[in-house]
This record gives sequence, structure tokens and C-alpha cells, in this order.
Amino acid sequence: MNVKKISKSAFTSFVDELISKQKVIGAQAKGDRFEFEQLESANQLRLDYDVTLRPPNRKYFLPPVETLLTYEVGGSYQSVSDSTEFILLGIHPYDLEALNQMDLIFEQDNCDSHYMKRRNNATIIACDVVTPSRDVFAASMGTATVKSGFDVLLTDIGDSYLMESGSPKGDKLLAKAKGTADATAEDLEKRQKVWNENQNRLNKHKLNCDYSYLHKLLERAYSHPVWEEKAKTCFSCGSCNQVCPTCYCFNVQDDVNWDFVKGKRQRAWDGCLLDGFTKVAGEHEFRKKRADRFRHRLYRKGKYVPEKISSKIPACVGCGRCVHACLPDIANPVNVYNRLFDDLGLR
Ligand code: SF4
Ligand code: SF4
Repeated sequence: MNVKKISKSAFTSFVDELISKQKVIGAQAKGDRFEFEQLESANQLRLDYDVTLRPPNRKYFLPPVETLLTYEVGGSYQSVSDSTEFILLGIHPYDLEALNQMDLIFEQDNCDSHYMKRRNNATIIACDVVTPSRDVFAASMGTATVKSGFDVLLTDIGDSYLMESGSPKGDKLLAKAKGTADATAEDLEKRQKVWNENQNRLNKHKLNCDYSYLHKLLERAYSHPVWEEKAKTCFSCGSCNQVCPTCYCFNVQDDVNWDFVKGKRQRAWDGCLLDGFTKVAGEHEFRKKRADRFRHRLYRKGKYVPEKISSKIPACVGCGRCVHACLPDIANPVNVYNRLFDDLGLR
């Protein structure tokens, strides 16, 4: 295990050094909220953020709107992809789990070259949570801490950070940092204390069953009245989809220039809660009812995606963003799963 200790001032100099050489994206304050943006100086970095408005894994690996190719009448076309190398600095464990799940999705079947290119160009520095957000429940979903899936893991242990490398990319990065020393047994104990505390602190909504049981619970819940009851007040606004780090649905459309000669093919985020999401040719729509769309989202998080990628961890990583984003206060997955668990129990 390659774990180094670095003082906070030496870490700031290290980040400035990285920024002078390549694109570094980190969490920054936006009013009283936070968002991942490109850093111009280490002083902008806020590793004490609670949660960011948008999930960094989607923003930087599956952007809201992306041009896939450009074309011209006559059959010529050019694939468009971004080959900029970058560092994503400070992603929380729950968003890292979402990123690792998305990797499995996008490399499966027809591997998505646009996604994978960005992924291969990125170095991921994860960061243990310092300030829990109002609605985080990562501990209930097994994502309060991580042991793998990062290039470097940062943990604030008071006057300094511990930096653990998790890959050859991480080894290379740590080798560049000046003023580091090998972590001592006492340092590692302090880190373990942070991990233990985060298992308690990141649990603002407590799931009453083990997260690995959700897919079995949902096998018996398809006709439960909760879908109709909750969906009565759903606006079909799609906010719960837009803020979620594990939602990855997109729509592809052609944008033809006014000259009718050139055009571009783009993909943009879509959301399964939106009316029309399942509309196909001939005006057929196979999830027209709000309750069906509401149920689909919770099935996708608890059953369909975990089964597709053979993941024990659900495709809800407990970031709590949808809880904050939903005006009628019905999107919280824990409330729905607990209701099902209360009514249906273990079997
Ligand atoms: S369903 Fe909600 S809490 Fe779960 S990962 Fe998505 S936004 Fe976060
Ligand atoms: S569950 Fe809430 S956030 Fe999601 S579409 Fe319905 S009203 Fe909007």
C-alpha cells in the first residue's frame, strides 16, 4: 500500500504545480452551493464541500450536450472526440462509485468510444467527505468510503492529508508531490477513524434493510400501491434524473445547418421521468402513466442496473441530490424502499 502524508500547505503548492501543467477540475463554491469547474488556482479548491449541484462523473464523462460527429451531404463524416488529459480532483466516494458503475455500463456491449476516451484521459483523485450534506445517505448504500476505483484517495486527517495511490497513474502522480513522507501507523489510525465516523455521519436517511436485499424486495413490489400514491404529486419535471450521478440516459438527434449541406449529430441528457421519454414511432408510448415512470426509476436503481453490471451496490449511491431537487418531496429512494420493506418484509 503506497500511502503518503503531505502537509496542507505543501498540498496547495502541489495542486498549483499540477494546474500549471495540465487541466485540473475541482469543487468550487458557487454562492452557498458547490460545483466542479476547472481550477485556475489551488485557492479555489474546496475539499470541505458537502455535495455538488451536478455530479462530476456525468458532467465530465457524459456531458449534458455532446457532438458525436459532423457530416456533409455526399456521405463524408468526421467523428468528434476530446483528447484533453485532465485531473478530476476531490470526487466523493459515492460519486466515485457512480463513475465506476458508469464505466461498466459504457464498456459493455457496444463499447462507447466517446465516453471511454475521456475516461482513459482522466486521473481521478477521490476525497473522503469532510462535511456531510443535508440529505446524504451513502452509508446506507455502501458508498460512505471506498477502498478501490481511484487513482489517488485523499483523506483529511487534521493538519495534513493522507494520499493513497490506487493505480500506476496514482503512483506517477504521488511521485511528483514534493514534501511527502510515508504515512505512519498513527496516521493510518487517524484515517481509519475518519472512515469509521463517516459510516455514521453519512446516513441522514436510514435504509431499514441491507442494500444488497433491494433487488429481491423489488421482485415482489411491482403491483404495490406506493407507486400510484407517490406519483400523484409528481410533476414529471425530471429533476431527480438530472441531478443523479447514476442516471445515464441520453437522446441522439441531428442538427442540420441552414445551408442543408452540413450538420452535426448530438446527444443530450434525457430522463425516464419525463413525459414522452418512451414515445416511439406511431405515437406508441409504453410508460405513459406517471406512476409507471416513477416506479421504473426506483426499479432501475435497486434492481435493473445492479443486475446488468453484476453490482452488489445499488445504482442509487445515496448522494441525496434528488431528495433536495424534488419539490413535492417524493423522490427519496429510502422512503420508498423502507415503505416496501415495512409492508413486504424479508422473504
Ligand atoms: S437516486 Fe437520488 S440519492 Fe440515489 S444516487 Fe440518484 S440522486 Fe443520488
Ligand atoms: S419525482 Fe420529483 S423530481 Fe422526479 S420528476 Fe417527479 S416531481 Fe420531478
